Amino acid sequence: MSNSAPTPYVGRFAPSPSGPLHFGSLVTALGSYLQAKSQHGQWRLRIEDLDPLREVAGAADDILTTLDKLGLHWDGAVVYQSQRLEVYQAVLEQWARSGLTYYCHCSRKQIATRGPYYDGHCRHLNLPATHSATRLIVKQPIYHFQDRLQGTIAIPAGLAEEDFIVRRRDGFYAYNLAVVIDDAAAGITEVVRGADLLQPTARQIALYQQLDAPVPQWLHLPLVCNDGKKLSKHLNAPAIPADCPSQLLWRALTFLGQQPPNSMFKAPPHELLAWARLHWCLDKVPHSTNITL
Ligand code: GLU
Ligand code: ZN
Repeated sequence: MSNSAPTPYVGRFAPSPSGPLHFGSLVTALGSYLQAKSQHGQWRLRIEDLDPLREVAGAADDILTTLDKLGLHWDGAVVYQSQRLEVYQAVLEQWARSGLTYYCHCSRKQIATRGPYYDGHCRHLNLPATHSATRLIVKQPIYHFQDRLQGTIAIPAGLAEEDFIVRRRDGFYAYNLAVVIDDAAAGITEVVRGADLLQPTARQIALYQQLDAPVPQWLHLPLVCNDGKKLSKHLNAPAIPADCPSQLLWRALTFLGQQPPNSMFKAPPHELLAWARLHWCLDKVPHSTNITL
């Protein structure tokens, strides 16, 4: 039995700067903020600007300004993934030296004809690094994990066992690699995000094990959908108008199953958030992966 104090809660919000914050990303931001702040934890912010091709100029600053206007204040300095490329590279070099990764020259088409999952074709071919993706040898596949909201998530065996990409052929680091290195470095104890990232979670757990880092808890919030599709920056979901932060917070709280009192409808954001931190109830959040507005 250990007498040590429980680990303090550290949560985060990790938007990609592929467009301004929209209602779906506000729900994720608010849910992760309240989950952290209702437990007197920290709420960190990381801009996932790994892939310049998907980045929209000005979007990162725009997201920060919007969060600030909504009263969603983060703890510590903002982390930018674009400034951490050496960290990702160092991990990959170490894994390469230990024979945990290999280079793969297969095209999507080749993989699909042998498919449905990547079959480890290049594992023993000792291919050179040029024009190749880097794959991690998956020794301990993750077939299922527990999500605090969605319950037990099962992963198809072929997908769980696939040697997945940690660095893309175009040279960019894979989202899964960067997100795990960064969350581990920040000591994140619980990842709260949208349910579109449920499946990649299994790969992320495999990466934590490879890094020998403690695996955080997982909590995937329902996605905001419109016409059956997830609101997304690519589909040009409307940006959050800066002039009515309280109404937006109200709507996001309601989407998350919380019931702010009618008397607070016109309250300024900081008052609404103070109420929400005090009354945040995870049991009221719908156990669903997507909800159509
Ligand atoms: N950057 C990802 C996104 O905006 C989220 C990553 C995460 O929360 O793990 O969709
Ligand atoms: Zn291959």
